[in-house]
Amino acid sequence: MIQVIGLNRKPKIAIDGPAGAGKSTVAREVAKRLDLKYLDTGAMYRAVTLKVIRENLDLNNNEAVISLLNSTKICLGDLQEVFLDGEDVTEEIRKSYINEMVSPVSALSAVRRHLVTSQQKIASETDGIIMEGRDTTSVVLPHADYKFYLDASLDERTERRNREQLGKGITMTAEEVLAQIVKRDSIDSEREDSPLTVVPDAIVIDTTNLSFEEVVSEIIRFIDIGL
Ligand code: C5P
Repeated sequence: MIQVIGLNRKPKIAIDGPAGAGKSTVAREVAKRLDLKYLDTGAMYRAVTLKVIRENLDLNNNEAVISLLNSTKICLGDLQEVFLDGEDVTEEIRKSYINEMVSPVSALSAVRRHLVTSQQKIASETDGIIMEGRDTTSVVLPHADYKFYLDASLDERTERRNREQLGKGITMTAEEVLAQIVKRDSIDSEREDSPLTVVPDAIVIDTTNLSFEEVVSEIIRFIDIGL
């Protein structure tokens, strides 16, 4: 168990960064070692995207988007299972067709407002949490005890995503993976509503030449020494 120096509670930690920077695996491991809850905010955007696709929703129809959000239940389990309206969609939301659509869906303000509200509620009700995504340092947890921004070169991120996809039996060429990452990066960082950004008080870690263990240790080292 770890506590913030001077506080009698566990810390709230936010980690942002672009696709393929290794945020999820690192955040999950840090959470495990420090006995904190882990929340993958991207999984929530992915689940909404799945429902949008299934319902063939017109993204320009704001009322329909709001109505879909209000009738959608997303639950995240302790083992990172994702349930959409009671159905286990853990594997489905990682598929390529979701990668293609998730950034346009996530750029909608109605979607962001809805999910940020639930994420902030979860954070306020949890003692000790690591939240990971694209706007956790800037919007969801602007007063987090620790903020990290994980980055890596485009080549490295493509390579990592490639390995990850192959491990899941998803066959895509390296060019397709690269194109998908570049497209998501640009939509995520250029959208009007809460774009991916490096906030001034974030600790930036370039993970390009670091091993998984080195990144995890680096984060824990910052948390151990306090800021
Ligand atoms: O982290 P992951 O790659 O699963 O996120 C999928 C997508 O969800 C991102 O590309 C982004 O469009 C969106 N997202 C977001 N804000 C977050 C987390 C994810 O817009 N906090």
